[in-house]
Amino acid sequence: MFPDPDPFPNPRIAVTASNETRAPGLDFIRAMVARDVERGKWEGRVATRFPPEPNGYLHVGHAKAICLNFGLANEYPQGTCNLRFDDSNPLTEDVKYVEAIKRDVRWLGFDWGDREYYASDYFEQLFDFAVTLIDKGKAYVDSSTEAEIRELRGTVTEPGRESPYRSRSVAENHDLFERMRRGEFPNGSHVLRARIDMAHPNMLMRDPLLYRIRHAHHYRRGDAWCIYPLYDFTHCLSDAIEGITHSLCTLEFKDNRELYDWIVSEVGIEDPPEQTEFARLNLDYTVLSKRKLVRLVDGRHVSGWDDPRMPTLAGLRRRGVTPEAIRKFCDDIGVARTDSRLDIRKLEHTIRDDLNLLAPRVLCVLRPLRVVIENYPEGQVEQLDAPHYPHDVPREGSRTVPFSRVLYIERDDFHEDPPKGFFRLAPGREVRLRYAYYVTCGEVVKDETGRIVEVRCTYDPATMGGGSPDGRKVKGTLHWVSAEHSLPAEVRLYDRPFTTADPEDTDEGEEFTDSLNPDSLVVLPDSRIEPSVAHDPPGTRYQFERQGYFVSDTVDSKPGALVFNRTVGLRDTWAKIQRKATRSGVKTKPGARGAKADSGVRPGPEPAGAPGRGDGPERYMSAYGLPGEQAGILGRDPELAALFEDAVAAHDNAKAVASWVVNDVRREAKRRAVERLPFDGAQLGRLVALIDSGTIHRAQAKVVLGEMFERGGDPDEIVRQRGLEQLADADVLTPMIERVLAEYPEKVEQYRSGRTGLLGFFVGQVMKLSRGKANPKVVEGIVRHELETR
Ligand code: ATP
Ligand code: MG
Repeated sequence: MFPDPDPFPNPRIAVTASNETRAPGLDFIRAMVARDVERGKWEGRVATRFPPEPNGYLHVGHAKAICLNFGLANEYPQGTCNLRFDDSNPLTEDVKYVEAIKRDVRWLGFDWGDREYYASDYFEQLFDFAVTLIDKGKAYVDSSTEAEIRELRGTVTEPGRESPYRSRSVAENHDLFERMRRGEFPNGSHVLRARIDMAHPNMLMRDPLLYRIRHAHHYRRGDAWCIYPLYDFTHCLSDAIEGITHSLCTLEFKDNRELYDWIVSEVGIEDPPEQTEFARLNLDYTVLSKRKLVRLVDGRHVSGWDDPRMPTLAGLRRRGVTPEAIRKFCDDIGVARTDSRLDIRKLEHTIRDDLNLLAPRVLCVLRPLRVVIENYPEGQVEQLDAPHYPHDVPREGSRTVPFSRVLYIERDDFHEDPPKGFFRLAPGREVRLRYAYYVTCGEVVKDETGRIVEVRCTYDPATMGGGSPDGRKVKGTLHWVSAEHSLPAEVRLYDRPFTTADPEDTDEGEEFTDSLNPDSLVVLPDSRIEPSVAHDPPGTRYQFERQGYFVSDTVDSKPGALVFNRTVGLRDTWAKIQRKATRSGVKTKPGARGAKADSGVRPGPEPAGAPGRGDGPERYMSAYGLPGEQAGILGRDPELAALFEDAVAAHDNAKAVASWVVNDVRREAKRRAVERLPFDGAQLGRLVALIDSGTIHRAQAKVVLGEMFERGGDPDEIVRQRGLEQLADADVLTPMIERVLAEYPEKVEQYRSGRTGLLGFFVGQVMKLSRGKANPKVVEGIVRHELETR
């Protein structure tokens, strides 16, 4: 009886909410694309792609990427957006995920038309590109073991060393690579590597792996291949093959950009695509990583990928959320350059706003209590007119609800001994029944255990429609259904899947699954709903008056055995927070605590074999090359180990990270007796990255870490706020250095006549002059140069 229960809209080209609702001003990506088009870059083309790996279902984080890529393409008449399955790993991918992803993208309101592509369809071309690199001497077959390759990679502070196989001749590489393809070698015996620079400051540029041998069946290519290209090689070339212009991805791929550019340039792509990174979406009280979500499914913590508690698009859909609400949410949050976490109430608020306008009101009693209206004639039934929408919703429609002598009301709406402030039904008290009459409670009937099983009331026929001719006021209005006419229903109340805002921020010895919310699903098997819904198709959305928004379950609801899922309750705490914030003039950013990098980064050219959490010390020694003492500490302390691993995932300098974790973090944590660190591994990784990039020096990093302990947060933010960025720019430093040298002519003379120990003195003076901001290494280099060459 209600139109569009679940529209599964499939317009030819997407509808985006973007044009009407996006905040004024372009986000940085849209601004960049607009500039490119204006300047005629790529002949003014805008070609984007959404590149999921078919190893799980899409979640609301992917929705952000979908809305961005498809949305952007739709904003230009000549824009295109490809759906590309990034399927070069035979071990995790499956056609069932391909199907699920297509269903979900379409449901979200986007249509790729015939632009459906598979990286695995490019295996032949990718192979040829690899041969091109070999021929140019830019790639070689390495026959080292994984451990040897790792060992030779060095760290951010130490350059790597060259593999003994690096000098193989082109002919030999050619031959070996062909034979790898033909299946002559077992897994792990050889890899193809780019020949770049083993001392490159970007670790990803130290001769990254391009291909590995994997004798495995591919869901799409079958057994045609036994060598598989790695992400960094596959991704950029797939972009290039498809003529992508703007390759948009999340921030964790920032360091990969240099490699991206190197590969497309070395294989000779003209007008290559360009990668730009944006912040990933992180939501409180849930996890947005396929690797974590698959654990919830496999561990049977949820009923499947479409369990309504899952942040997957399939879960949200089954929960009753509309695609419009998700698009609106993605639009509202916008696209930023730095990661942050979002309060899930923001999403709930958007869902509520959307459903308010579209969901008809109906009456449903979740936990029924029988009410007998003693003075209502037996056998009489009145069909009362009830509107579907309140007057402030610009929609019309109504239905009738039957009223009779025996009703159900919500058990919670009755109190035998009402506390102060309880305005609903109680002995001797009069309340209004929605759309019906005033009733007054007389007697309470209990069973032998003392449980209330029935309430006896009388009604006032003069109050029909809910008002009293004598002006008598009542404080409560209750929803109800007729016992005889209502339909039995199972109602499933869903709540947030986790009890902690950041489930991945775990205590010692804990897993993220330990903070699963045990009450995330409450099943009410004996609910009763008004009969008007009897023939609505599954997937119909409602507002159950006074209860919240619900949808009939598309999987389990059957005529005669109705099942409803709660989409979201009525109370909107987010709106309250915002109102409060507006009143006090504060911009709200609840729950935002800075970066939390995703640990689901696709495996890069990194040999496998990193220790799992809680592994013994030996593994930390062998996999990360840590000294025994540090490995021992990590091996014994799962909390530190988890922090370490998250930090290394965010910034690949295991030795430096380990030293910060084992020394500084451990010491601080003890001193302050904090059980729970107010920052996460990714943020610690960022801190180390700031040192490695020369943005701050170690002493400053300690100050930053102190602040992270104090009030949590994002090291980049702290560095910015405190103005700690180092000066490493020679153009800025040289004038300062010249000033210092001019101030101390005798010392310059002495240095030049052999007292080179004075170098430290000069550096110190420059540091002072820059108020500690200069990068001492850079200063030292320039000073030496000035003194020795002038
Ligand atoms: P997960 O980390 O959830 O396992 P993924 O990044 O490995 O996901 P892909 O299927 O490779 O998943 O992602 C496809 C695209 O979606 C990528 O461009 C990726 O950057 C983007 N994406 C993934 N997660 C998010 C997120 N949380 N926010 C925004 N974009 C995301
Ligand atoms: Mg990822």
